[in-house]
Amino acid sequence: MLDIVQFVLGPVETNSYLIADTSSGEAAVIDPAWDGDEIAGAAAQRKYAIRQVWLTHAHFDHLGGTAELARVVQPAPVVALHAGDLPLWEARGGSELFGFKIEPGPKPSIMLDKETRVSVGMIGFEVRHAPGHTPGHVVFYTPEYKVAFCGDVIFAGSIGRTDLPGGSYRQLIQSIQTQILSLPDDTRLLSGHGPQTTVGEERLSNPFLTDLDLQ
Ligand SMILES: [Zn+2]
Ligand SMILES: [Zn+2]
Repeated sequence: MLDIVQFVLGPVETNSYLIADTSSGEAAVIDPAWDGDEIAGAAAQRKYAIRQVWLTHAHFDHLGGTAELARVVQPAPVVALHAGDLPLWEARGGSELFGFKIEPGPKPSIMLDKETRVSVGMIGFEVRHAPGHTPGHVVFYTPEYKVAFCGDVIFAGSIGRTDLPGGSYRQLIQSIQTQILSLPDDTRLLSGHGPQTTVGEERLSNPFLTDLDLQ
């Protein structure tokens, strides 16, 4: 079974997700936003072993807890990121733009532009490249459990901002159309900020997407 533990962490209330295959206890953290010790503690309490960190993208508010997590969890989990976001990772997630200076943690060693699938225990996830918010943004999707971790691509009733360096509104809309709206309506969308939603709900009522249909 896939277990999902959600945290809301850091200065801009980013969602972090501890995910585990309960049959083996193998776990991964999607976007360790902040407070790596808190995520590690929750995993230890459940006897989960965190093996990997999957970053939807390299903004500082999605990886700010990675360094601490890698200090607390031994052996340190390996980090997965799309190569398109490596420059942003090297710029500490753009944190200096926001008046922070974060330590980004272990250098990503799993390049998601080469991997089309990642897995936690026996549970496989498709890696869907969805640029627009950042050039190397990805979505992690498991058809088996009908869940997509979509970072800052789409939110309940909104979409990711495209005014930061490397952002593109055109690209983002195209990514949403090809990588999100192509999923079944009952797919749960677990975003990087705010409450969860579904593909069907957003197809129907997301003002940024319903407007598109009128054009
Ligand atoms: Zn972001
Ligand atoms: Zn964010």
